[in-house]
Amino acid sequence: MDFSYTAEQEAFRGELRSWLERKKAEGAFGGTQHRNLDEVVRDGRLWQAALYEGGWCGIHWPREYGGRSAGLLEQILFQEELARVGSPQLINLLALSMVGPVIIAHGTEEQKRRYLKPILTAEEIWCQGYSEPGAGSDLAALSTRAVLDGDAYVINGQKVWTSYAQYAHFCILLARTDPDVPKHKGITMFIMDMRVPGVEVRPLRQMNGDSEFNEVYLEDVRVPRQNIVGKEGQGWDMAVALLMHERATLTFQRQLQSRVALRDLIRFSQEWDAPGEPPMNDPIQRQRIAQAYIDSEAMRLTALRHLTRQLRGGQPGPEGSMEKLFWSEMYQRMLVGAVDMLGPYGNLAPGDPHAPEDGRWPHLMLYSRGRTIAAGTSEIQRGIIAQRVLGMPKDR
Ligand SMILES: Cc1cc2nc3c(=O)[nH]c(=O)nc-3n(C[C@H](O)[C@H](O)[C@H](O)COP(=O)(O)OP(=O)(O)OC[C@H]3O[C@@H](n4cnc5c(N)ncnc54)[C@H](O)[C@@H]3O)c2cc1C
Repeated sequence: MDFSYTAEQEAFRGELRSWLERKKAEGAFGGTQHRNLDEVVRDGRLWQAALYEGGWCGIHWPREYGGRSAGLLEQILFQEELARVGSPQLINLLALSMVGPVIIAHGTEEQKRRYLKPILTAEEIWCQGYSEPGAGSDLAALSTRAVLDGDAYVINGQKVWTSYAQYAHFCILLARTDPDVPKHKGITMFIMDMRVPGVEVRPLRQMNGDSEFNEVYLEDVRVPRQNIVGKEGQGWDMAVALLMHERATLTFQRQLQSRVALRDLIRFSQEWDAPGEPPMNDPIQRQRIAQAYIDSEAMRLTALRHLTRQLRGGQPGPEGSMEKLFWSEMYQRMLVGAVDMLGPYGNLAPGDPHAPEDGRWPHLMLYSRGRTIAAGTSEIQRGIIAQRVLGMPKDR
Protein backbone atom coordinates (compact mmCIF):
# COMPACT_ATOMS: atom_id res chain seq x y z
CA MET A 1 0.00 0.00 0.00
CA ASP A 2 1.42 3.35 -1.00
CA PHE A 3 0.24 6.28 1.13
CA SER A 4 2.05 9.03 -0.76
CA TYR A 5 0.29 11.39 -3.14
CA THR A 6 1.59 12.88 -6.36
CA ALA A 7 2.46 16.60 -6.55
CA GLU A 8 -0.76 17.17 -8.48
CA GLN A 9 -2.84 15.42 -5.84
CA GLU A 10 -1.13 17.42 -3.10
CA ALA A 11 -1.89 20.63 -5.02
CA PHE A 12 -5.53 19.54 -5.32
CA ARG A 13 -5.64 18.86 -1.59
CA GLY A 14 -3.99 22.20 -0.74
CA GLU A 15 -6.41 24.19 -2.88
CA LEU A 16 -9.41 22.36 -1.43
CA ARG A 17 -8.18 22.64 2.15
CA SER A 18 -7.72 26.40 2.01
CA TRP A 19 -11.12 26.84 0.33
CA LEU A 20 -12.81 24.70 3.00
CA GLU A 21 -11.03 26.50 5.85
CA ARG A 22 -12.20 29.83 4.44
CA LYS A 23 -15.79 28.60 4.15
CA LYS A 24 -15.69 27.13 7.64
CA ALA A 25 -14.51 30.48 9.03
CA GLU A 26 -17.46 32.12 7.24
CA GLY A 27 -19.79 29.66 9.04
CA ALA A 28 -20.89 28.09 5.75
CA PHE A 29 -21.82 24.72 7.22
CA GLY A 30 -23.27 25.64 10.59
CA GLY A 31 -22.46 24.30 14.05
CA THR A 32 -22.47 20.84 15.53
CA GLN A 33 -25.61 21.21 17.62
CA HIS A 34 -28.65 19.25 16.67
CA ARG A 35 -31.13 21.19 14.57
CA ASN A 36 -34.46 20.05 13.24
CA LEU A 37 -34.63 18.45 9.81
CA ASP A 38 -36.08 21.53 8.09
CA GLU A 39 -33.01 23.48 9.20
CA VAL A 40 -30.65 20.66 8.28
CA VAL A 41 -32.10 20.56 4.76
CA ARG A 42 -32.18 24.35 4.35
CA ASP A 43 -28.55 24.76 5.54
CA GLY A 44 -27.49 21.67 3.61
CA ARG A 45 -28.80 23.14 0.37
CA LEU A 46 -26.95 26.40 1.00
CA TRP A 47 -23.73 24.53 1.78
CA GLN A 48 -23.99 22.41 -1.36
CA ALA A 49 -24.73 25.50 -3.47
CA ALA A 50 -21.57 27.09 -2.02
CA LEU A 51 -19.57 23.98 -2.94
CA TYR A 52 -20.96 24.19 -6.46
CA GLU A 53 -20.07 27.88 -6.76
CA GLY A 54 -16.54 27.05 -5.62
CA GLY A 55 -16.25 24.27 -8.22
CA TRP A 56 -16.24 21.53 -5.58
CA CYS A 57 -19.51 19.73 -6.14
CA GLY A 58 -19.82 16.43 -8.01
CA ILE A 59 -16.07 16.38 -8.60
CA HIS A 60 -16.30 12.82 -9.95
CA TRP A 61 -18.73 13.91 -12.68
CA PRO A 62 -17.27 14.60 -16.13
CA ARG A 63 -16.30 18.22 -16.78
CA GLU A 64 -18.88 18.61 -19.54
CA TYR A 65 -21.62 17.99 -16.96
CA GLY A 66 -20.27 20.37 -14.33
CA GLY A 67 -17.81 18.12 -12.48
CA ARG A 68 -14.00 17.96 -12.46
CA SER A 69 -13.54 14.47 -13.94
CA ALA A 70 -11.74 13.65 -10.70
CA GLY A 71 -10.16 10.23 -10.28
CA LEU A 72 -10.71 7.86 -7.37
CA LEU A 73 -7.86 9.26 -5.29
CA GLU A 74 -9.06 12.84 -5.65
CA GLN A 75 -12.50 11.68 -4.55
CA ILE A 76 -10.99 10.09 -1.46
CA LEU A 77 -8.95 13.22 -0.75
CA PHE A 78 -12.15 15.21 -1.09
CA GLN A 79 -13.92 13.06 1.52
CA GLU A 80 -10.88 13.20 3.82
CA GLU A 81 -10.76 16.97 3.67
CA LEU A 82 -14.50 17.30 4.27
CA ALA A 83 -14.11 15.09 7.36
CA ARG A 84 -11.06 17.03 8.55
CA VAL A 85 -12.91 20.31 8.48
CA GLY A 86 -16.11 18.86 10.02
CA SER A 87 -18.40 19.29 7.03
CA PRO A 88 -21.89 17.79 7.23
CA GLN A 89 -22.88 15.08 4.74
CA LEU A 90 -23.91 16.65 1.44
CA ILE A 91 -27.65 17.00 1.33
CA ASN A 92 -28.18 15.73 -2.22
CA LEU A 93 -25.76 12.85 -1.75
CA LEU A 94 -28.02 10.23 -3.30
CA ALA A 95 -28.37 12.25 -6.49
CA LEU A 96 -24.71 13.27 -6.60
CA SER A 97 -23.35 9.80 -6.06
CA MET A 98 -25.90 7.67 -7.86
CA VAL A 99 -28.67 9.36 -9.84
CA GLY A 100 -26.40 11.82 -11.67
CA PRO A 101 -23.82 9.21 -12.75
CA VAL A 102 -26.58 6.88 -14.00
CA ILE A 103 -28.26 9.67 -15.99
CA ILE A 104 -24.84 10.60 -17.41
CA ALA A 105 -24.19 6.97 -18.42
CA HIS A 106 -27.67 5.86 -19.49
CA GLY A 107 -29.93 8.92 -19.71
CA THR A 108 -31.12 10.70 -22.83
CA GLU A 109 -29.67 14.06 -23.87
CA GLU A 110 -32.89 15.70 -22.78
CA GLN A 111 -32.65 14.10 -19.31
CA LYS A 112 -29.05 15.24 -18.97
CA ARG A 113 -29.96 18.82 -19.89
CA ARG A 114 -32.97 18.87 -17.60
CA TYR A 115 -31.79 17.15 -14.41
CA LEU A 116 -28.04 17.31 -13.94
CA LYS A 117 -27.28 20.90 -13.04
CA PRO A 118 -30.01 21.30 -10.36
CA ILE A 119 -28.62 18.15 -8.71
CA LEU A 120 -25.23 19.82 -8.36
CA THR A 121 -26.64 23.10 -7.08
CA ALA A 122 -29.10 21.30 -4.73
CA GLU A 123 -31.93 23.34 -6.24
CA GLU A 124 -33.65 19.98 -6.73
CA ILE A 125 -33.45 17.28 -4.09
CA TRP A 126 -33.90 13.60 -4.98
CA CYS A 127 -35.15 10.60 -3.09
CA GLN A 128 -34.88 6.87 -3.78
CA GLY A 129 -38.10 4.91 -4.25
CA TYR A 130 -36.88 1.32 -4.04
CA SER A 131 -38.05 -0.35 -0.80
CA GLU A 132 -41.63 -1.43 -0.30
CA PRO A 133 -43.48 -3.07 2.58
CA GLY A 134 -42.89 -6.46 0.88
CA ALA A 135 -39.52 -5.74 -0.73
CA GLY A 136 -36.42 -4.65 1.19
CA SER A 137 -33.57 -7.14 1.37
CA ASP A 138 -35.26 -8.94 -1.51
CA LEU A 139 -35.70 -5.79 -3.57
CA ALA A 140 -36.55 -7.63 -6.78
CA ALA A 141 -39.82 -8.73 -5.13
CA LEU A 142 -41.18 -5.19 -5.51
CA SER A 143 -44.78 -4.95 -6.61
CA THR A 144 -45.41 -1.28 -7.45
CA ARG A 145 -46.95 -1.50 -10.90
CA ALA A 146 -46.43 0.73 -13.94
CA VAL A 147 -48.78 0.28 -16.90
CA LEU A 148 -48.33 2.11 -20.19
CA ASP A 149 -51.31 4.27 -21.15
CA GLY A 150 -50.72 6.40 -24.24
CA ASP A 151 -47.58 8.45 -23.74
CA ALA A 152 -47.39 7.93 -19.97
CA TYR A 153 -47.08 5.12 -17.46
CA VAL A 154 -49.74 4.92 -14.78
CA ILE A 155 -48.13 3.94 -11.49
CA ASN A 156 -49.81 2.39 -8.46
CA GLY A 157 -48.21 1.04 -5.30
CA GLN A 158 -46.44 1.96 -2.12
CA LYS A 159 -42.86 2.75 -1.21
CA VAL A 160 -41.48 2.91 2.30
CA TRP A 161 -38.39 4.21 4.16
CA THR A 162 -38.06 6.87 1.45
CA SER A 163 -35.52 9.24 3.00
CA TYR A 164 -36.16 12.95 2.47
CA ALA A 165 -39.22 12.29 0.27
CA GLN A 166 -40.96 15.22 1.94
CA TYR A 167 -38.24 17.55 0.62
CA ALA A 168 -37.68 15.84 -2.71
CA HIS A 169 -38.52 17.27 -6.11
CA PHE A 170 -37.82 13.97 -7.88
CA CYS A 171 -37.72 10.29 -7.06
CA ILE A 172 -35.63 7.64 -8.76
CA LEU A 173 -38.28 4.96 -8.75
CA LEU A 174 -38.34 1.25 -9.46
CA ALA A 175 -41.65 -0.22 -10.63
CA ARG A 176 -42.76 -3.45 -12.25
CA THR A 177 -43.69 -3.04 -15.90
CA ASP A 178 -43.95 -6.75 -16.71
CA PRO A 179 -45.26 -9.19 -14.10
CA ASP A 180 -45.00 -12.19 -16.48
CA VAL A 181 -41.21 -12.48 -16.74
CA PRO A 182 -38.68 -13.53 -14.05
CA LYS A 183 -38.75 -10.96 -11.26
CA HIS A 184 -35.42 -9.23 -12.07
CA LYS A 185 -36.42 -8.77 -15.72
CA GLY A 186 -39.75 -7.00 -15.37
CA ILE A 187 -38.57 -3.90 -13.49
CA THR A 188 -38.14 -0.41 -14.97
CA MET A 189 -36.45 2.69 -13.55
CA PHE A 190 -38.34 5.98 -13.71
CA ILE A 191 -37.74 9.60 -12.89
CA MET A 192 -40.88 10.60 -11.01
CA ASP A 193 -41.84 14.18 -10.23
CA MET A 194 -42.84 14.22 -6.55
CA ARG A 195 -45.22 17.14 -7.01
CA VAL A 196 -47.70 15.51 -9.43
CA PRO A 197 -51.23 14.34 -8.52
CA GLY A 198 -51.43 10.89 -6.92
CA VAL A 199 -48.15 11.11 -4.96
CA GLU A 200 -48.80 11.20 -1.23
CA VAL A 201 -45.93 11.44 1.23
CA ARG A 202 -46.58 10.39 4.82
CA PRO A 203 -43.64 11.01 7.15
CA LEU A 204 -42.70 8.23 9.59
CA ARG A 205 -41.58 9.37 13.01
CA GLN A 206 -38.37 7.68 14.08
CA MET A 207 -37.35 6.91 17.65
CA ASN A 208 -35.03 9.94 17.74
CA GLY A 209 -38.04 12.19 17.00
CA ASP A 210 -37.05 13.06 13.42
CA SER A 211 -39.05 12.12 10.36
CA GLU A 212 -36.24 11.50 7.93
CA PHE A 213 -38.00 8.76 6.06
CA ASN A 214 -41.51 8.39 4.77
CA GLU A 215 -44.15 6.20 3.28
CA VAL A 216 -44.92 7.22 -0.30
CA TYR A 217 -48.30 6.19 -1.69
CA LEU A 218 -48.74 6.21 -5.46
CA GLU A 219 -52.24 6.27 -6.88
CA ASP A 220 -52.65 6.54 -10.65
CA VAL A 221 -49.53 8.66 -10.92
CA ARG A 222 -48.83 9.53 -14.56
CA VAL A 223 -45.14 9.46 -15.42
CA PRO A 224 -44.28 10.47 -19.00
CA ARG A 225 -42.73 7.75 -21.13
CA GLN A 226 -39.61 9.83 -21.69
CA ASN A 227 -38.88 9.62 -17.94
CA ILE A 228 -37.66 6.03 -18.17
CA VAL A 229 -33.94 5.73 -17.39
CA GLY A 230 -32.41 3.21 -19.81
CA LYS A 231 -35.03 0.98 -21.39
CA GLU A 232 -38.23 -0.64 -20.23
CA GLY A 233 -37.39 -3.87 -18.34
CA GLN A 234 -33.80 -2.76 -17.65
CA GLY A 235 -34.55 -1.31 -14.23
CA TRP A 236 -32.66 -3.99 -12.33
CA ASP A 237 -29.52 -3.44 -14.43
CA MET A 238 -29.89 0.31 -13.88
CA ALA A 239 -30.29 -0.20 -10.12
CA VAL A 240 -27.14 -2.34 -10.01
CA ALA A 241 -25.25 0.19 -12.17
CA LEU A 242 -26.37 2.87 -9.75
CA LEU A 243 -24.95 0.94 -6.81
CA MET A 244 -21.69 0.26 -8.64
CA HIS A 245 -21.22 3.99 -9.10
CA GLU A 246 -20.80 4.52 -5.42
CA ARG A 247 -19.23 1.31 -4.22
CA ALA A 248 -15.59 2.32 -4.55
CA THR A 249 -15.95 5.51 -2.55
CA LEU A 250 -18.97 4.71 -0.40
CA THR A 251 -17.03 3.77 2.71
CA PHE A 252 -15.18 7.06 2.57
CA GLN A 253 -18.47 8.93 2.26
CA ARG A 254 -19.83 7.04 5.25
CA GLN A 255 -16.75 7.74 7.29
CA LEU A 256 -17.46 11.43 6.92
CA GLN A 257 -20.32 10.93 9.40
CA SER A 258 -18.46 8.75 11.90
CA ARG A 259 -15.15 10.63 11.82
CA VAL A 260 -16.80 14.01 12.32
CA ALA A 261 -18.73 12.54 15.28
CA LEU A 262 -15.56 10.96 16.72
CA ARG A 263 -13.62 14.19 16.44
CA ASP A 264 -16.43 16.05 18.21
CA LEU A 265 -16.65 13.36 20.88
CA ILE A 266 -12.93 13.67 21.63
CA ARG A 267 -13.27 17.46 21.81
CA PHE A 268 -16.33 17.14 24.05
CA SER A 269 -14.58 14.70 26.43
CA GLN A 270 -11.58 16.99 26.69
CA GLU A 271 -13.51 20.22 27.24
CA TRP A 272 -16.28 18.51 29.29
CA ASP A 273 -18.75 21.10 30.49
CA ALA A 274 -21.42 18.50 31.31
CA PRO A 275 -22.36 17.33 34.83
CA GLY A 276 -20.44 14.44 36.39
CA GLU A 277 -16.89 13.21 36.27
CA PRO A 278 -14.96 14.22 33.13
CA PRO A 279 -14.50 11.03 31.05
CA MET A 280 -10.80 11.78 30.63
CA ASN A 281 -10.39 11.08 34.40
CA ASP A 282 -12.03 7.66 34.11
CA PRO A 283 -9.80 4.86 32.79
CA ILE A 284 -12.76 2.88 31.39
CA GLN A 285 -14.09 5.87 29.43
CA ARG A 286 -10.60 6.76 28.24
CA GLN A 287 -10.16 3.25 26.90
CA ARG A 288 -13.51 3.45 25.15
CA ILE A 289 -12.54 6.65 23.39
CA ALA A 290 -9.18 5.17 22.45
CA GLN A 291 -10.95 2.06 21.11
CA ALA A 292 -13.30 4.22 19.03
CA TYR A 293 -10.26 5.95 17.54
CA ILE A 294 -8.54 2.60 16.83
CA ASP A 295 -11.74 1.27 15.16
CA SER A 296 -11.99 4.39 13.04
CA GLU A 297 -8.35 4.19 11.89
CA ALA A 298 -8.63 0.43 11.23
CA MET A 299 -11.68 1.16 9.10
CA ARG A 300 -9.94 3.94 7.19
CA LEU A 301 -6.83 1.87 6.50
CA THR A 302 -8.83 -1.19 5.46
CA ALA A 303 -10.83 0.96 3.05
CA LEU A 304 -7.58 2.39 1.67
CA ARG A 305 -6.20 -1.12 1.18
CA HIS A 306 -9.29 -2.11 -0.78
CA LEU A 307 -9.05 1.09 -2.76
CA THR A 308 -5.41 0.33 -3.63
CA ARG A 309 -6.50 -2.99 -5.07
CA GLN A 310 -9.06 -1.23 -7.25
CA LEU A 311 -6.54 1.36 -8.39
CA ARG A 312 -4.38 -1.54 -9.54
CA GLY A 313 -7.17 -2.74 -11.76
CA GLY A 314 -9.24 -4.93 -9.41
CA GLN A 315 -13.03 -4.73 -9.22
CA PRO A 316 -14.91 -3.76 -6.07
CA GLY A 317 -15.90 -7.07 -4.51
CA PRO A 318 -17.50 -8.51 -1.39
CA GLU A 319 -15.04 -6.57 0.78
CA GLY A 320 -17.59 -3.73 0.52
CA SER A 321 -19.81 -5.84 2.80
CA MET A 322 -17.04 -6.11 5.39
CA GLU A 323 -16.61 -2.35 5.34
CA LYS A 324 -20.34 -1.65 5.64
CA LEU A 325 -20.75 -4.14 8.48
CA PHE A 326 -17.74 -2.97 10.47
CA TRP A 327 -18.48 0.73 9.91
CA SER A 328 -22.14 0.56 10.98
CA GLU A 329 -21.37 -1.47 14.10
CA MET A 330 -18.39 0.66 15.14
CA TYR A 331 -20.47 3.83 14.70
CA GLN A 332 -23.14 2.42 17.00
CA ARG A 333 -20.53 1.33 19.60
CA MET A 334 -18.98 4.78 19.66
CA LEU A 335 -22.33 6.50 20.15
CA VAL A 336 -23.50 4.11 22.86
CA GLY A 337 -20.20 4.97 24.59
CA ALA A 338 -20.89 8.69 24.19
CA VAL A 339 -24.33 8.39 25.79
CA ASP A 340 -22.92 6.22 28.56
CA MET A 341 -20.38 8.91 29.44
CA LEU A 342 -23.23 11.29 30.16
CA GLY A 343 -24.78 9.01 32.76
CA PRO A 344 -28.42 9.92 33.46
CA TYR A 345 -28.03 13.09 31.37
CA GLY A 346 -27.60 10.85 28.34
CA ASN A 347 -31.35 10.31 28.40
CA LEU A 348 -32.19 13.94 27.72
CA ALA A 349 -33.44 14.73 24.23
CA PRO A 350 -32.70 17.83 22.11
CA GLY A 351 -34.64 20.79 23.42
CA ASP A 352 -34.32 19.81 27.08
CA PRO A 353 -32.64 22.73 28.91
CA HIS A 354 -30.44 20.31 30.92
CA ALA A 355 -29.32 18.20 27.95
CA PRO A 356 -25.52 18.44 27.39
CA GLU A 357 -24.73 19.64 23.85
CA ASP A 358 -28.47 20.02 23.32
CA GLY A 359 -29.06 16.28 23.37
CA ARG A 360 -26.89 15.68 20.34
CA TRP A 361 -25.37 12.39 21.56
CA PRO A 362 -28.54 10.41 22.40
CA HIS A 363 -30.10 11.80 19.23
CA LEU A 364 -27.19 10.54 17.12
CA MET A 365 -27.09 7.24 19.01
CA LEU A 366 -30.75 6.53 18.25
CA TYR A 367 -30.24 7.60 14.63
CA SER A 368 -27.27 5.23 14.27
CA ARG A 369 -29.50 2.19 14.93
CA GLY A 370 -30.73 2.50 11.34
CA ARG A 371 -27.20 2.23 9.94
CA THR A 372 -27.15 -1.56 10.41
CA ILE A 373 -30.41 -1.77 8.41
CA ALA A 374 -30.11 0.77 5.58
CA ALA A 375 -28.21 -0.16 2.40
CA GLY A 376 -28.25 -3.88 3.24
CA THR A 377 -28.80 -5.20 6.76
CA SER A 378 -26.00 -6.74 8.83
CA GLU A 379 -27.50 -10.19 8.28
CA ILE A 380 -27.39 -9.67 4.52
CA GLN A 381 -23.77 -8.45 4.74
CA ARG A 382 -22.79 -11.46 6.85
CA GLY A 383 -24.49 -13.72 4.31
CA ILE A 384 -22.45 -12.18 1.49
CA ILE A 385 -19.21 -12.53 3.46
CA ALA A 386 -20.02 -16.16 4.37
CA GLN A 387 -20.75 -17.14 0.79
CA ARG A 388 -18.47 -14.98 -1.29
CA VAL A 389 -15.45 -14.51 0.97
CA LEU A 390 -15.47 -17.70 3.01
CA GLY A 391 -17.00 -19.95 0.34
CA MET A 392 -19.71 -21.32 2.61
CA PRO A 393 -22.76 -22.94 1.04
CA LYS A 394 -25.65 -20.77 -0.08
CA ASP A 395 -28.42 -20.07 2.41
CA ARG A 396 -31.59 -22.04 1.66
C1 LIG B 1 -32.26 5.02 7.89
C2 LIG B 1 -32.81 4.28 6.69
C3 LIG B 1 -32.96 4.96 5.49
C4 LIG B 1 -33.48 4.29 4.37
N1 LIG B 1 -33.65 5.01 3.22
C5 LIG B 1 -34.20 4.39 2.14
C6 LIG B 1 -34.49 5.14 0.95
O1 LIG B 1 -34.26 6.35 0.89
N2 LIG B 1 -35.07 4.49 -0.10
C7 LIG B 1 -35.34 3.15 -0.06
O2 LIG B 1 -35.82 2.63 -1.06
N3 LIG B 1 -35.10 2.41 1.06
C8 LIG B 1 -34.54 3.01 2.15
N4 LIG B 1 -34.31 2.28 3.32
C9 LIG B 1 -34.76 0.88 3.36
C10 LIG B 1 -33.67 -0.15 3.46
O3 LIG B 1 -33.02 -0.31 2.23
C11 LIG B 1 -34.34 -1.45 3.94
O4 LIG B 1 -34.81 -1.21 5.27
C12 LIG B 1 -33.39 -2.62 3.95
O5 LIG B 1 -33.04 -3.00 2.66
C13 LIG B 1 -34.00 -3.83 4.68
O6 LIG B 1 -35.25 -4.15 4.16
P1 LIG B 1 -36.53 -4.31 5.11
O7 LIG B 1 -36.58 -3.16 6.05
O8 LIG B 1 -37.70 -4.53 4.21
O9 LIG B 1 -36.24 -5.59 5.97
P2 LIG B 1 -36.44 -7.11 5.51
O10 LIG B 1 -35.74 -7.34 4.23
O11 LIG B 1 -37.88 -7.47 5.61
O12 LIG B 1 -35.65 -7.86 6.65
C14 LIG B 1 -36.20 -8.11 7.96
C15 LIG B 1 -35.16 -8.86 8.77
O13 LIG B 1 -34.89 -10.14 8.14
C16 LIG B 1 -33.51 -10.25 7.87
N5 LIG B 1 -33.31 -10.94 6.58
C17 LIG B 1 -33.94 -10.69 5.41
N6 LIG B 1 -33.47 -11.48 4.43
C18 LIG B 1 -32.50 -12.25 5.00
C19 LIG B 1 -31.62 -13.25 4.50
N7 LIG B 1 -31.64 -13.63 3.21
N8 LIG B 1 -30.72 -13.81 5.37
C20 LIG B 1 -30.68 -13.43 6.68
N9 LIG B 1 -31.51 -12.48 7.21
C21 LIG B 1 -32.40 -11.90 6.38
C22 LIG B 1 -32.99 -8.82 7.80
O14 LIG B 1 -31.60 -8.75 8.07
C23 LIG B 1 -33.83 -8.14 8.87
O15 LIG B 1 -33.27 -8.33 10.13
C24 LIG B 1 -33.82 2.92 4.45
C25 LIG B 1 -33.66 2.24 5.67
C26 LIG B 1 -33.17 2.90 6.79
C27 LIG B 1 -33.04 2.15 8.07
